[in-house]
Amino acid sequence: MKPTCPSCRAPFAPGAETCRACGAPLLLTADAGGAEPVCAVHPQWRSVATCPRCGVFACAHCLRAGREGAICASCHEREPLGQVPWDQREELGTLKAFWKTCFGMLLRPTETLRGLNPDAPVSSSLGFVLLSAIAGFLSTGLVYTVFIGLILGLVPAKDASAEDLESMKPWLTAGMALWTVLMPFFSTGMTLVNAGLDHLILRMGGVERGFSVTMRAHALSQSPYIVGVIPFVALYAAPFWAAGLRAVTYRALHKTSWGTAIAGAFLAPVLSCCVCGGGYAVIMFATLKSAGQF
Ligand SMILES: [Zn+2]
Ligand SMILES: [Zn+2]
Ligand SMILES: [Zn+2]
Repeated sequence: MKPTCPSCRAPFAPGAETCRACGAPLLLTADAGGAEPVCAVHPQWRSVATCPRCGVFACAHCLRAGREGAICASCHEREPLGQVPWDQREELGTLKAFWKTCFGMLLRPTETLRGLNPDAPVSSSLGFVLLSAIAGFLSTGLVYTVFIGLILGLVPAKDASAEDLESMKPWLTAGMALWTVLMPFFSTGMTLVNAGLDHLILRMGGVERGFSVTMRAHALSQSPYIVGVIPFVALYAAPFWAAGLRAVTYRALHKTSWGTAIAGAFLAPVLSCCVCGGGYAVIMFATLKSAGQF
């Protein structure tokens, strides 16, 4: 919604002081009767627009360019409500919005996150996670599937004992293919759990914004998985890249300290590694001990 000139009704851009269509000044002295609304900050000037975010009346001095049109100066200062291409996927198309967001996050994370609206629906963030999981795993999974199919095809079925294997071959290949298809969904579910754990830690660090903000930050940090379209090589680097990026997105979207952001990004994964490692050690110890008894 563009503000319009009070004299000729031509739309004008925030920052203008005179109308480009009729040349009339956009800053008009409020009339004494008080029939016209006046600026909330400068009661001496007539209001030319209402802020779409907070609904306040604003004079031409107080208007700033926001993504949704002209907004008031204090809203502009508080939160610029910027978008990533993923937020514009209806106009751009889902795939284009996805890779544009990924490249923005990989090449210019600071600029991409500056002034970004920290909040987005959880479903929107999960959609992004699903696409990055597909990008990350699909090509590698397909290569594995073909590999397994080929290797199994090369195993000769000479004697009778190999007949069992022969009948299992299609199932093994199909299993690998199924895993490839299901993996992105499984990994998206895991991301929801991981973001929940991260959010608990961020909360302990004094973060006040809601879970949907953590989820959005977590989703954007998955951008490096797009390099997984190159099988193998990139996939194994992507998790570390994503974890590093997560500290950056948590800090930016939660407006918190580096300490809290880093704890949010790394504490849960490191702890779960320790728990898993500890559990593994206990199982190993128990196995060795029972083996020693025989
Ligand atoms: Zn005008
Ligand atoms: Zn406002
Ligand atoms: Zn004003």
